[in-house]
Amino acid sequence: MSAVMTSKKLVVTPEAQPSAERILQSERVGVLRHLGRWIDIGAMGLALLAALAFWSSTPHAVVVAWLTGALALSLGRLVLSWAFPLLVLSESARRTWQDVFMVLSLGLGILWGLGGWIFFEPGSTVHQIALVALLVARAAMPTMVLATHRHIYLTYLGALFGPLLLRLVAMLNVTGALIAFACFAVAAVMWLLVDEGGREMLANIGFRLAYREARLRLADEVTTRTRYQSHLVDHEDRTRRRESKLLEVALDPRITGGNLRAACELISEQSQRATGAARVSVWFMNRKGSLLRNAHTYLDGTHVSRATQDITREDSGELFEQLAHSRGISVPDVRRNASLASAWKRYFASTGARAVLFVPFRNGSGVHGIILHEWMAGKTDGMPGDMAFASSLADSMTLALHSAERSASEIEMRRLATVDTLTGLPNRTAFMDRLNQALAHAGRHHERLALLFVDVDRFKTINDSLGHPVGDQVLKEIGRRLVNCVRAEDVVARLGGDEFMVLMAGCEDPKAVTFTAQRILDTVSGTLNAAGVQVHTGCSIGISTYPEDGADAATLMKNADLAMYRVKERGRNGFQFFTRDMQALATLRLARENALRWALERHEFKLHYQPQFDVRRGGIYGVEALLRWEHPELGTVPPAEFIPLAEETGLIVPIGRWALREACRQMKAWHDASGDRKLQVSVNLSVRQFAQGSLVGMVKEALDATGLPPACLKLEITESLLMRDIESNLQMLEELKLLGVRIALDDFGKEHSSMTYLKRLPIDAIKLDREFVKGAPENSYDRAIIHCLLALADSLRIQAVAEGVETPEQLAFLKSEGCRYVQGYLFSPPLPAREAGRLLCKELDLAV
Ligand code: C2E
Ligand code: CA
Ligand code: CA
Repeated sequence: MSAVMTSKKLVVTPEAQPSAERILQSERVGVLRHLGRWIDIGAMGLALLAALAFWSSTPHAVVVAWLTGALALSLGRLVLSWAFPLLVLSESARRTWQDVFMVLSLGLGILWGLGGWIFFEPGSTVHQIALVALLVARAAMPTMVLATHRHIYLTYLGALFGPLLLRLVAMLNVTGALIAFACFAVAAVMWLLVDEGGREMLANIGFRLAYREARLRLADEVTTRTRYQSHLVDHEDRTRRRESKLLEVALDPRITGGNLRAACELISEQSQRATGAARVSVWFMNRKGSLLRNAHTYLDGTHVSRATQDITREDSGELFEQLAHSRGISVPDVRRNASLASAWKRYFASTGARAVLFVPFRNGSGVHGIILHEWMAGKTDGMPGDMAFASSLADSMTLALHSAERSASEIEMRRLATVDTLTGLPNRTAFMDRLNQALAHAGRHHERLALLFVDVDRFKTINDSLGHPVGDQVLKEIGRRLVNCVRAEDVVARLGGDEFMVLMAGCEDPKAVTFTAQRILDTVSGTLNAAGVQVHTGCSIGISTYPEDGADAATLMKNADLAMYRVKERGRNGFQFFTRDMQALATLRLARENALRWALERHEFKLHYQPQFDVRRGGIYGVEALLRWEHPELGTVPPAEFIPLAEETGLIVPIGRWALREACRQMKAWHDASGDRKLQVSVNLSVRQFAQGSLVGMVKEALDATGLPPACLKLEITESLLMRDIESNLQMLEELKLLGVRIALDDFGKEHSSMTYLKRLPIDAIKLDREFVKGAPENSYDRAIIHCLLALADSLRIQAVAEGVETPEQLAFLKSEGCRYVQGYLFSPPLPAREAGRLLCKELDLAV
């Protein structure tokens, strides 16, 4: 242990003994000074008493001389005591003072001892006893003062009693010896008392000193403790304030809002306030971890967000290493830091920084950046508390980064939700938003707007024949071309599939719309290169305008769609403005559709049967079942009017199922009635039914349910329908053939027939289209075609049925060409079942 200076008080520890001695010394001197003066006054009185007592027995001159000496010495000591504060300024002066005091004391002892010699009266015992008493009194006087200087007192006693004892002993008688002994005894007792008292006194002083020391130490400890306690309270207070501050920062919308710039502003301000740094800046680490780039600086109450300065790993590899493992690096003097020499030149020299504190923030495990605190001069370093606080603040930066990432992915998600990923155009949702906004704006400002519904022609064929990757490329390219056709303020969106929509806002001039529509047609129609394939495209555009064609988005879109359908109906690749009659047609269509839905349940469908004749053998060999819709208000609706609608709505599937079953049932009944079990019934099949996977099952079910022999059922399929997906249709035909039913190709020659496929198809008959028959007798072209088709059928060994035979000339021509099977108004129109039955059962010979 050692002496420690604390609060300017000297704390004495065991090793500090010399100082203790010094204190003891000063205590002893204090005793001399304070008690000495009273002794001196007493001693002067005693000297006077002695002079008076021995005045008569001693020569007067001697008495006066002795008295003068005694008084002078006492007075000297008195002056010495009185002058103490003036004389004693230092340690050595105190010693000298004490020495002088002792010399004077010994002097007094000697003088009084001399008095014992000179006042001695050998003859008078009383005299002798009085002298002894006087000396004892004089010896007793300084006991208190010299108790702490026992050796001096012993010398003093010797000097005081020595001469008297010599005189007494020198008398050489018993009385003298007795008195001398008594005197010696008294002196010895006094010595013992003083010795004991002195020890006691020293012990007392020591005890007092120890006590004082203990008190001082205690006081010191109490102050230290109080200081620590208040430190602790302070610290706790600060920690609490900081924690609540940190929480406040972490919950601040600038941190959680996903705006990094706002987060940088908040954190740098808070860091500056906590550390007192002159400049606080935020730096971001690049992906490779090789560079820190300054992104935000807070200086003199101003924020600057600009990436201008870098610190590279090459500048200070050590800094980069340390950042990875620490919560903060403080550099007291950046100019003298060898590892930052490069960084100093590059950055710190220009900012004038002296002390710096780097606090890293992390994202995941790696350092994502730092918050740099710079102090210009004077204040060297953030306190450890500040460093911890700054480091915790940096954690808020991590929070801010997470929020920013989250909000970026939210924005991306929102973008994806409103963007068509294939073309990058707005999707239906986004388009509806834009359209509604545009409508609201147009409504307020009495402006017009136009909607162009663009549908790619025959896109399904492109997709089916060339594959989806090519289809996707076509859509992408068309989207791109559409954007190039319109003004910057117009919106082009893809609604899905091959449907695009163009919104032209604020177009007062209808000519501008026409112009744009034409430009779209010109740009989209033609050949385009998709994934290395040349694809021929076209489009149909339907246009509706606000406010004429509708007040809301849904109506405008529906009407543009109707107009687009009209273009499709008219042969595609064109554009058409919406008109009111389209609306009327659409309404009618809707009414029809509804009525059609109920027709089956209400038994409004009937089958008519048109007989088919074998001109070679003579007589009817079969009938073709033809659907009729007996509408309660509209009357009989021909198939041409409702079959397309039924196909579109899918109602053709249940209607077709009913027709097949009814035809089979009816034919079975006729078989039974006529006894002719070879009569055939032909049933027409539609596209939709064919696409339905359950066709074979449906046919089998009809045959099973009615008991009609499969050979008596002929299914009529249009050629174009078959060709659409030849491979899978071939398989279906094979399955139907396995059931034992017959198959005829309807309207043969109408569409461009594929002779190659014809050879592969398991068909039993072709039906020559009505159009050729109609023109046959006169038109040489039709005659040639019929000739060829009949020759073809003959060579393939399949039947050929001529449809729509109306005149005897036609019949004559057909017969001359070798056509065996005919059907047409010439023989009979399609007849209701009852009449057809009558015809069949009576076996009316129409004399063909
Ligand atoms: P299609 O299969 O070509 O039927 C022959 C059409 O020609 C019938 O018209 C018939 O009435 C008509 N026709 C018959 N002889 C003559 C004639 O000498 N001159 C003229 N000009 N026409 C004649 P319809 O009954 O109006 O049927 C039209 C089309 O509706 C049918 O054409 C067929 O494709 C379809 N169809 C009829 N019934 C059904 C059915 O049950 N299912 C399906 N999917 N389609 C049917
Ligand atoms: Ca037919
Ligand atoms: Ca036909």
